[in-house]
Amino acid sequence: MVRSRLNLVGRRNRAGFSGTMRPIVNSAKDRHSEALHWRQRDERSAWFWGDKMDFDIPEEIKTYLAELDAFIAREIKPLEEQDDNIRFFDHRREYARTDWDNDGQPRHEWEELLGEMRRRADAAGHLRFALPKEYGGQDGSNLAMAVIREHLAEKGLGLHNDLQNESSIVGNFPQVLMFRDFGTPEQQDTFINGMLAGTHRVAFGLTEPDHGSDATWMETRAEPCTRDGVDGWLINGEKMWNTGLHVANYDMIFARTSGDDGAARGISCFLVPTDAPGFKIEEYLWTFNMPTDHPRISLTDVWVPDTALFGPRDGGLVLAQHFVHENRIRQAASGVGAAQYCISESVAYAKARKPFGKALASNQAIQFPLTELHTECEMVRNLVYKTAAQMDTMTKPEVAQRISDKVSMCNYRANRLVCEAADRAMQVHGGIGYSRHKPFEHIYRHHRRYRITEGSEEIQIRKVAGHLFGFIGK
Ligand SMILES: Cc1cc2nc3c(=O)[nH]c(=O)nc-3n(C[C@H](O)[C@H](O)[C@H](O)COP(=O)(O)OP(=O)(O)OC[C@H]3O[C@@H](n4cnc5c(N)ncnc54)[C@H](O)[C@@H]3O)c2cc1C
Repeated sequence: MVRSRLNLVGRRNRAGFSGTMRPIVNSAKDRHSEALHWRQRDERSAWFWGDKMDFDIPEEIKTYLAELDAFIAREIKPLEEQDDNIRFFDHRREYARTDWDNDGQPRHEWEELLGEMRRRADAAGHLRFALPKEYGGQDGSNLAMAVIREHLAEKGLGLHNDLQNESSIVGNFPQVLMFRDFGTPEQQDTFINGMLAGTHRVAFGLTEPDHGSDATWMETRAEPCTRDGVDGWLINGEKMWNTGLHVANYDMIFARTSGDDGAARGISCFLVPTDAPGFKIEEYLWTFNMPTDHPRISLTDVWVPDTALFGPRDGGLVLAQHFVHENRIRQAASGVGAAQYCISESVAYAKARKPFGKALASNQAIQFPLTELHTECEMVRNLVYKTAAQMDTMTKPEVAQRISDKVSMCNYRANRLVCEAADRAMQVHGGIGYSRHKPFEHIYRHHRRYRITEGSEEIQIRKVAGHLFGFIGK
């Protein structure tokens, strides 16, 4: 009987280190057949046998990270430090950012500063990195975006990558790609150019006061209605949490146009101008992390022409699903980066702080929880990289069918991890960790949101269970 156990044998190829799993064998006969096996294997396609399993970050991505670092040092840090702009990031951050007397919305100066950061990043060619070349981008891959998002988050709070506003020197533009793939030529012309020029901002209205995870049970209705000889739709309903609506001139309103409650088919999406008669912001929801740009709105007999229909009639949910995997993997990568930041800061602090006359770091009660988090961070990071790299080899429908469970695993575990790491950082730092003079409370409050919003933790676990138990995917 051949007794074998698996051993990881590293092999070098042009691109860097690759690991292949080879059995360890005992007898001479076994060794001969083993040698033959590996020779035959090597003669076949390297790809087939896994020589492409490369764990190095590609050189061009590493080079790009260095370029981004230089840009931050040259153009973003000085901006962050001038005119007391640091108030938006230090212990005064929540106060400085929030216009408390204006429904808790973001202060104008705060959004102006973010706008200037984006203008500089665009002028330097970074902002649109992930977009196709036709829109001034660099066709950045999912892997590159994951590595970049992690890298930027690992630097901690700053204007280069603001958490609360989800603004970064390397932008995420899901809506541009939605319009490219589903817009009519007129919509593409108006909205893609408008969004890139900053004249058009579009919010996203899927969730309702009584329906979030179960969005297919939405109560908002759109019915055909002709006005002044123009065919169109009359929309009635309520929407909740339409992020960014305070500055948006359009809202993507999802409404049932046919079918039964709960059916995915029969929901359509409409581009509704926010100044349309009957479109009303009812209130801004104050959240764990302020300021807020998340209102509840009502739509009372809002009329739009047929040209406002965005994407297929009755098939509007494809829009909501179009970018979900890209968003989730990028968010997971940010979670990993922010978690690593919390861990690294805690290790450094534990070495420097000396309660009872010796370094805090000498206590296992301090070491072990951080070590556990560090271990988890390494594992989630590797799954994020692997999944992002796999996404780059697949079409969107293939990603949805074959690896949406892996994307969900990355997302929910990274969201959880960063919350645990921020919480642990507060603990290791003691009183000052709990204060706003350290960034951990901010990191916690921001990332806590993603355990609910980007497909909640439970909904993503349900996705993984669906693949595991065979009721979705593959
Ligand atoms: C800050 C913020 C920004 C947002 N931005 C937007 C936006 O721009 N546009 C938009 O349309 N929406 C937005 N949302 C809404 C967000 O997508 C929803 O909050 C989310 O989908 C969850 O829906 P819900 O809040 O109605 O919770 P519910 O669906 O009521 O769920 C309540 C809890 O029960 C869990 N749960 C639900 N079903 C199950 C189940 N079958 N098994 C086990 N557990 C379950 C959920 O995970 C959740 O924890 C935002 C929300 C927030 C907080």
